[in-house]
Amino acid sequence: MSKEKISPNEIKLKNRQLIYQYVRKNNSVSKQDIVVALQLSLPTVTQNLDYLEKQKLIDTSCKIKNTGGRNATAFTYIKNAKMAIGVYSTVNHINAVAVDLSGMVTGVVKEKRRFNLDDDEYLKRIGEAVEEVKKQANILDEDLLGVGIAVPGLVSDDGETVLYGMTLNFTGKTREEIAKHIPYNSRLVHDSYAAGYAEIWNDHRVKNGFYISLSNSVGGSVIINQSIYEGDTQKGGEIGHMLVVPKGGKRCYCGRTGCFDTVCSACMLDQYTDGNLEKFFVLLKEGDKTAAQLWDEYLDYLAIAVYNMRILFDGVIIVGGYVGAYIGDYMEDLCDRVDQYNPFSDSARDYLIQCRYKREATAAGAAIFFIDDFLNSI
Ligand SMILES: [Zn+2]
Repeated sequence: MSKEKISPNEIKLKNRQLIYQYVRKNNSVSKQDIVVALQLSLPTVTQNLDYLEKQKLIDTSCKIKNTGGRNATAFTYIKNAKMAIGVYSTVNHINAVAVDLSGMVTGVVKEKRRFNLDDDEYLKRIGEAVEEVKKQANILDEDLLGVGIAVPGLVSDDGETVLYGMTLNFTGKTREEIAKHIPYNSRLVHDSYAAGYAEIWNDHRVKNGFYISLSNSVGGSVIINQSIYEGDTQKGGEIGHMLVVPKGGKRCYCGRTGCFDTVCSACMLDQYTDGNLEKFFVLLKEGDKTAAQLWDEYLDYLAIAVYNMRILFDGVIIVGGYVGAYIGDYMEDLCDRVDQYNPFSDSARDYLIQCRYKREATAAGAAIFFIDDFLNSI
């Protein structure tokens, strides 16, 4: 059996990462805690902590109270030492968020504007939204890791080109064109991929499964072994075009009829409330009959999708997107509907969960690409 040789430099980097991740996870630790927990020598730990402090990634200004003797220095990680920005360009809005190293959204800019990548004014607004959120979150140029731009379409692996943007007719657009007014590192990200990524990042409950994004269009992402599986041609998880109404279904934006998108996009609900989804859920709560009827139909179709995803992946199913943010009170009902189909003894209550990010999951996910890269490169 051959053993792969690890160079001293690789060991050094690995130790540094281990130490930084330990401080990150445990929030406030002493040097001794690190030595014991990671089984590393004191000089190794000291050297790496010095490095991380010099890089302004950890703080040493606090003490851990020690009743026995001298108070030890507390090493804490600085969440906003580096930041990333995420932009989500949707049919009617430009949303920009600032995200810190813990994945928390610390700034939000939202603007109503019709999607039009051929209009330079629109592209300028994207650039301005980035500057506004950067200012809001007090991000210095040297601390900004990059800007992730989520778009409602399929994106090439390198984040440079839109492979399929049929919803809004922008197939073939490049990052360079879209980020024309963004003077920072940037990349394009497929929107439902970004939202799924935000959900599973730093959450070890989800090993395998599926993230369903229920926004103005329906998408999803396949999660295998805690990473997103995109498929051979970046179309993995496109459940919006799964056929759920075999006969007499409505026409989908893809040109066919009966797609899942035609029955479970958020528009199916908020068309009743002039595009205001929050208002729809208020009416539903108040017992409005039309809202209740629309919701009943919606949940029936959603239950089919959840059931199918579970059968395929036998993992956690996350309900996200615009509708996912409001679905909390109705999860029990949804679980009951899913369980009706299930031939096995498990219950949807064991695997069906609501999304963690209630707002701006997609923009946050686009930013997290840069956070993740950074954390892997320390
Ligand atoms: Zn379709």
